[in-house]
Amino acid sequence: MAAPERIASLSTAPAEWSPSSWQACPQAQQPAYADATELERALAQLSQLPPLVTSWEILSLKRLLAEAAAGERFLLQGGDCAESFDDCSSPLISNRLKVMLQMSLVLVHGLKLPVVRVGRFAGQYAKPRSADSETRDGVTLPSYRGDLVNAAAFTAEARRADPQRLIRGHARSAMTMNFVRALVDGGFADLHHPEYWDLGWVKHSPLQDEYRAMVESIGNSLRFMETLAGEPLGSFQRVDFYTSHEALVLHYEQALTRQVPRQAGWFNLSTHFPWIGMRTAAIDGAHVEYFRGIRNPIAVKIGPSVTPDQLRRLADVLDPEREPGRLTLIHRMGATRIGDALPPLLAAMKASGRTPLWVCDPMHGNTETVGNGVKTRRFENIRGELDSAFDVHAAAGTRLGGVHLELTGENVTECMGGARDLTETDLARAYKSQVDPRLNYEQSLELAMLIVRKRGA
Ligand code: PEP
Ligand code: MN
Repeated sequence: MAAPERIASLSTAPAEWSPSSWQACPQAQQPAYADATELERALAQLSQLPPLVTSWEILSLKRLLAEAAAGERFLLQGGDCAESFDDCSSPLISNRLKVMLQMSLVLVHGLKLPVVRVGRFAGQYAKPRSADSETRDGVTLPSYRGDLVNAAAFTAEARRADPQRLIRGHARSAMTMNFVRALVDGGFADLHHPEYWDLGWVKHSPLQDEYRAMVESIGNSLRFMETLAGEPLGSFQRVDFYTSHEALVLHYEQALTRQVPRQAGWFNLSTHFPWIGMRTAAIDGAHVEYFRGIRNPIAVKIGPSVTPDQLRRLADVLDPEREPGRLTLIHRMGATRIGDALPPLLAAMKASGRTPLWVCDPMHGNTETVGNGVKTRRFENIRGELDSAFDVHAAAGTRLGGVHLELTGENVTECMGGARDLTETDLARAYKSQVDPRLNYEQSLELAMLIVRKRGA
């Protein structure tokens, strides 16, 4: 268990840090706003709007993540690559939640561990891009950087970085958050009624029997315990759900970085659990500067080019006090690279006496482009990287404490393979992502079942 007094000890922001000190550092992946006054006005408005989460929720999650790092819990973090303003709708939000709840049920049952559920949503509106601009038929325009910044259509107006989108992003995040909170508190997550979470797939999926048998066994155990207790067990009627996003557009994050009564230091109150993307994790860069001063639990994406020495320095800057639950390292190496790239990093952290929460993102190192320039991922590579991650951690004497996935509750065809063996031709049928390909609900469930088989093995 985490020692609460240790968590409370990181009570103030580090010296020479402020919510705006990142502005003096090299800034990667920031929108180019043409009109500084327009930006200032939007930020002034944003900084007056209510926060989306509270400091005590943030500190509770930090304790849960500390327990996950200690092997007492497993983290399930997932959602779209990028949310879009148009997709802020009831069925999309509730279907995504259903998939996450179903997956967590599979994991709790199979791993015999409580699961920490963290959505990659209610703020996942900004995307890092490999190029600042894009040329089509001789016309060059700024890249689409996510709905928080501009729009995807290839016109000058759509691609303009619009500060009003920061305010709309906050509002969309609040609506998403509000609906998710109401659902998880209002009986939707009640284990007595797992049928509320059915997405229709169980009727025709090859995985149907396994999932059904598991739900039945959980139902029987619950009824047995309630018979013993002589009353319904209230703690099975709701679940905790937390949010996360890549904290990319630092003006937005700064405007939602606040001090709260009776708590020292600063909190990013736009989300419980922000992360630094792989492209913005430079040790002397603006993102690392911003993140080092907030009290949230934070994560960093770690790609195959990170050296043990860079990782050690990053950990020292971001978590100088070695606070339980503070630092999560999300490795995303690719199925063919993980065996070589991960062991030196695990060894470096171990040698420096650190026990971060290690999480595997088996999506981002396995993206490939097939015919017609369509971006996809193969289920067997996603599964392969995850399998290897368990093995590499076991060999290193460290622990894989969670997964980070891009998934949706919709029946999309964006990743190939899986129980239904989607092929390249299937991709055209229901490819909806504007950015990275996501697991559909069936592939997501299948992956949860495979994690259980691997971990249980
Ligand atoms: C992402 O999570 O969508 C992403 C861009 O990941 P990474 O920073 O690991 O490339
Ligand atoms: Mn992505």
